[in-house]
Amino acid sequence: MASYIVFLGPPGAGKGTQAKILAQSTGLPHVSTGDIFRENISQQTELGRLAQQYTEKGELVPDDVTIGMIRERLRRPDCEKGAILDGFPRTLAQAEALDRLLDEFGSRVNLVPFIQVDDETLVARLSGRWTCRAAGHIFHEQFNPPARPGVCDFDGSELYQRKDDRADTVRHRIQVYRQNTAPLVEYYRQKGVLFELDGTEPIETVTKVLLAALEGIN
Ligand code: AMP
Repeated sequence: MASYIVFLGPPGAGKGTQAKILAQSTGLPHVSTGDIFRENISQQTELGRLAQQYTEKGELVPDDVTIGMIRERLRRPDCEKGAILDGFPRTLAQAEALDRLLDEFGSRVNLVPFIQVDDETLVARLSGRWTCRAAGHIFHEQFNPPARPGVCDFDGSELYQRKDDRADTVRHRIQVYRQNTAPLVEYYRQKGVLFELDGTEPIETVTKVLLAALEGIN
């Protein structure tokens, strides 16, 4: 049976960082709806132009668009053994759509790492965050700096600051998370797949705990 891992937690909790590490160690693809939107925005595709109106303000892209996009992504051959989802689902409707899709595949969500971090830390993290152009690797000018400022340690590409990482937009994204996405914690807890993590611990500690939890699934 395929393995589907869904990262849950507020923006800045470390979902992208951990999802990337896990993808490397498991060989499962890292599927980030935020990354897919950003790619489409930089190429100015039809989807990108639509998504941009929402992402710039820290609002959610409408469910039908996001769900359609993820259905297409998870049907690709590289997701045959499962996927590590980062940033999806973000609403109850998305979570239910994901369950239906995985049901079609004869599968289900196996593990939901829920990374908890207080609001103050989130704002500090996001406003100092630098992201790599080539693959979305994530750094922080203070907490996780790259060896050379402005250059990605992994692929040497340029680091940039996301527009939606500005302090005012960050606060709005946290509110949107509390209102729309936080209810998914209970949704997955009731299914018995929620795994709570303290996201204020160092990156390596969170990874270790996560890898141990992964051993127990399936
Ligand atoms: P992220 O990189 O996960 O922080 O996502 C960046 C932005 O993309 C979000 O603030 C939303 O505007 C949009 N986005 C990403 N994932 C979703 C989703 N599952 N549903 C709706 N909008 C999303």
